[in-house]
Amino acid sequence: MSTPGIHNASTKSQGPVKDIEDKTVKTADDNPAATSGGKITTSCETLSRREVLAGLGAVGATMLLPGVLSAALDGKTTFTILHTNDLHSNFIGLGPASDYTPFSTGDDKTLGGYARLAALIRQRKEARQGLGPVLILDDGDYSMGTAFGGATRETGAELQLLSRMGYDATTLGNHEFDFGPDGLGQSIGVAAKAGHVLPIVASNTNFDGKDATLADLQRLANDGVIRRYLVIERGGVRFGIIGLLGKEAGVYTQGGAASFPDAIEIAKDMVNVLHEKEKVDMVICLSHGGVARGKDGKFTGGDDVRVAEAVPGIDVVIGGHSHTALQEAIIVNGRTPVVQAGKYGQNLGELVITVDGGKLTVESYQLHPIDDTIAGDRAIADEIDGYKKTVTRVVFAARGYSIDQPLAVAPRDLPNTFTDIAASAPLANLVTDSFRKATNAHIAMTANALMRAGLTRGNSGVQTVYDVFAVAPLGAGIVDTTAGSALVTAYFTGQELKHVLEFFLVDDPSHPGETFPRTSGMRFRYDTSRPKFDVVTAIEIGDLDHGYRAVDITGKDERLYSLTCPLMFGKFVVAIPNFTKGKLALVPKNKEGQPFKEKTELLNDPRGDTPDLLRPPGTVDKSSVDTMTEGGVVREIKEWQSIMDYIRSLPVKTKGGLPMIPVDERASEARAIKVG
Ligand SMILES: [Zn+2]
Repeated sequence: MSTPGIHNASTKSQGPVKDIEDKTVKTADDNPAATSGGKITTSCETLSRREVLAGLGAVGATMLLPGVLSAALDGKTTFTILHTNDLHSNFIGLGPASDYTPFSTGDDKTLGGYARLAALIRQRKEARQGLGPVLILDDGDYSMGTAFGGATRETGAELQLLSRMGYDATTLGNHEFDFGPDGLGQSIGVAAKAGHVLPIVASNTNFDGKDATLADLQRLANDGVIRRYLVIERGGVRFGIIGLLGKEAGVYTQGGAASFPDAIEIAKDMVNVLHEKEKVDMVICLSHGGVARGKDGKFTGGDDVRVAEAVPGIDVVIGGHSHTALQEAIIVNGRTPVVQAGKYGQNLGELVITVDGGKLTVESYQLHPIDDTIAGDRAIADEIDGYKKTVTRVVFAARGYSIDQPLAVAPRDLPNTFTDIAASAPLANLVTDSFRKATNAHIAMTANALMRAGLTRGNSGVQTVYDVFAVAPLGAGIVDTTAGSALVTAYFTGQELKHVLEFFLVDDPSHPGETFPRTSGMRFRYDTSRPKFDVVTAIEIGDLDHGYRAVDITGKDERLYSLTCPLMFGKFVVAIPNFTKGKLALVPKNKEGQPFKEKTELLNDPRGDTPDLLRPPGTVDKSSVDTMTEGGVVREIKEWQSIMDYIRSLPVKTKGGLPMIPVDERASEARAIKVG
């Protein structure tokens, strides 16, 4: 048990904890049509009535016995939880956007789309609410992943739509911090100001301190929008809701001055408060942590399971982060269900629980696919259309694009599977070729998981700016902080290039294929039967047009080759000597062969105690960032921009005048050649 109560400085720092008496949401329950609009906002205004922290001194450190439900629940009670996770700004049905027709059924194969999700939520709520309370919950990573995510600071659209769809709460996933804590504060602030925001439960996110980037989050906590926990009283049941960012997810969070104390310790504290002080009947944990398969192939690991194991006072875990579509609930400790609904709004999870005499039973669990059988909600679709203008203005216009602009035709799917290197070669080659063309470097590289989506042919094959942006939707830059990660370039010797490949070829079995290196202007041979850090047997520079020539990888030749890669990949590269404790030496150099000056901070790895491949926070040498000057304005070359520019330059072979994305043998060239 950690410190009794939640008094320690780190937990107090988020701001006053307030609770919610859910009168207005209850009204919305009675009238299913009234789930949108100002309802949640109204309830937020009532949130500040009771300040709980002041009274928390009285809360003891009573360890709750496993499985003890409040005596308040007499007899049999049934309730339903509708849930999503990792929506990642996927407002539009997935693949390709031009096929998505939410108002007509039976004519497209796209999955997801908020207009359909909203319609199904309303249907399921109507079907279930006569049988007991219905809660609608999201588990975070609601933002980043599409062009809409690129404008989240300006629109707050993700939260506005969740609010309009009638969600009761969400939590903060790692990607919510992609634009830093100030970007997150801006995004939530816009939604709050518009009057369409829902409670954001972030139990183990701390943002105290004087850092200016935290000011918006602090204000939102004071206003009760962001909270440590939430109490919803509905249908005679008091639900306590907590929200956790799991340990592994925390590693990938660009939290800046915000910090994320241990999820399990905080959960224990919160469960105590909810039971002792708030007298809740049921504790629901929004855990953005993930599930993982054990050796037996069953889902027995991951932070979502661990928190259920370690904190028996949690009754239900709504999970996320690992993008897992669980077909059945994982039951932990013989009683606590852990559920997760995949990703990108492709499913709505429906968990029905019955509590009888203190015994909790999962009555049913299912994932409803969000597909073309559902007629979409017009009001939600109209809202989404309205956001498109802002997205074009803030993300695309400066670089000559607009969100619905058709770019090219894909004659078949270009998948981004991480484990089938041959299947994902056309996409990987297209992406890395575009990087190399954008900077004229000798070589371009990326890793499988940095390509965030494939391209889907669908009915027409037409790929719009919206579809292509989803391949490289993350990050912001260094020189300009508009949406999208920048390309960076540095110079390396042949042996250093080998070291880069060796590092990325070390596979993490819990995330198979994610770091696998993809190249342009270079091909390499590797033999996985050889010792770790020495699997690469040959590197050649060149391409199919100009031929390949061997590069010395023994360290004898000091000739330099330029390497262009996404900023995120570059952060890993710079830290390789540190990650490998000097076993893989390299020094990123500029054109003149001089080491970059600002790299020292990058080499400091504050989390060196974990085995994960981490990207350390720190500065980036601005001279490594690729920029172009247009009309006197210096702009970074964004990943997404280089891909779109490249696609537009491809030969036009279709009647409609759009370029054709190549998928032939040449486009599928194997640049990572497995030998031995
Ligand atoms: Zn996540």
